Amino acid sequence: NLILAFESSCDETSVAVVEDGKTILSNIVATQIKSHQRFGGVVPEVASRHHIEQITACIDLALSEAQVTYDDLSAVAVTYGPGLVGALLIGVTAAKTVAYAHQLPLIPVNHMAGHIYAARYVAPIEFPALALLVSGGHTELVYLAEPGQFEIIGETRDDAAGEAYDKIGRVLGINYPAGKEVDRLAHLGKDNFHFPRAMDKDDSFDFSFSGLKSAFINTVHHADQIGETLNREDLAASFQQAVVDVLADKTVRALKAFPVKQLILAGGVAANQGLRDRLTTELTQFPDVTFLKAPIKLCGDNAAMIGAAGYVSYQLNQFGDAGLNADPSLEFDWLETTQANA
Ligand code: ATP
Ligand code: MG
Ligand code: FE
Repeated sequence: NLILAFESSCDETSVAVVEDGKTILSNIVATQIKSHQRFGGVVPEVASRHHIEQITACIDLALSEAQVTYDDLSAVAVTYGPGLVGALLIGVTAAKTVAYAHQLPLIPVNHMAGHIYAARYVAPIEFPALALLVSGGHTELVYLAEPGQFEIIGETRDDAAGEAYDKIGRVLGINYPAGKEVDRLAHLGKDNFHFPRAMDKDDSFDFSFSGLKSAFINTVHHADQIGETLNREDLAASFQQAVVDVLADKTVRALKAFPVKQLILAGGVAANQGLRDRLTTELTQFPDVTFLKAPIKLCGDNAAMIGAAGYVSYQLNQFGDAGLNADPSLEFDWLETTQANA
């Protein structure tokens, strides 16, 4: 089985060729970060234009690097949501065109399911599993009872973890996206500021990061006003410690409430070294749970993860047709939505 997979939900244009949902033959990622940096975030119109400019070259490269032709393909998979509507539409239109021209089945993929399935490149997913999904737009604890089933048991009530990283990074003068650099600084500092850990001790599996973000920004602005300069490493370390504490505590609570075989860590923020280390330590409390971390290189947006998730849909016969549309606010009940779309 060879799947040609497309991802264009945000600011990466990506096309991959994936074999049997578990081997990457190629994974071309054209990032637009440089074009968005001067605006401090992703500008939707700029993103759409870049996707249009890049996508054909990405398809050609993905096929040639994988050393396959259209005739070798079994299906086409594509992210159809959630994300920026204009950006999603480029990938959806390209995928539909390839599927139609080469008479291939079309597989609609939820971007967040894709993030989870990036972990499939490390080892098979064993069910039931729990996923901590931390990205630029989402922070969720997802229960996977069986393949194709995703149930959100907790989520952020305001900012996503990655979004908080990017916003506090901006205050530290770090370019978008700031997560990686804040992570690096955090390892050089100490948690001297003791920022709030919102909702850490409550009974829900939900998160909240906007209070932490505000506390951080207020601390820096207050220091500015009195002409004081705070230690950037300590600021970063204090922020990261607060984020990691909450993510780890909620995940441990969820693991106690939902016995699973595996914990999956995925999404852009899953590249965070502090978070990876902390969860590894916490998992020693759960000797029967294996810890599956998405490979650092596949934590950010890429089409290989879409191919892996698409392969599961392929096996479940969840196909779309020429009527497939982008769904910018697609939710996780994709079993039903993809069938309705088919
Ligand atoms: P979504 O997947 O929710 O639609 P997205 O696709 O924009 O959003 P991703 O590409 O999954 O998000 O992740 C990007 C985010 O990951 C950015 O906010 C970035 O700052 C963050 N990030 C990347 N590396 C790290 C790191 N080492 N530590 C913390 N955050 C990180
Ligand atoms: Mg991105
Ligand atoms: Fe993403």
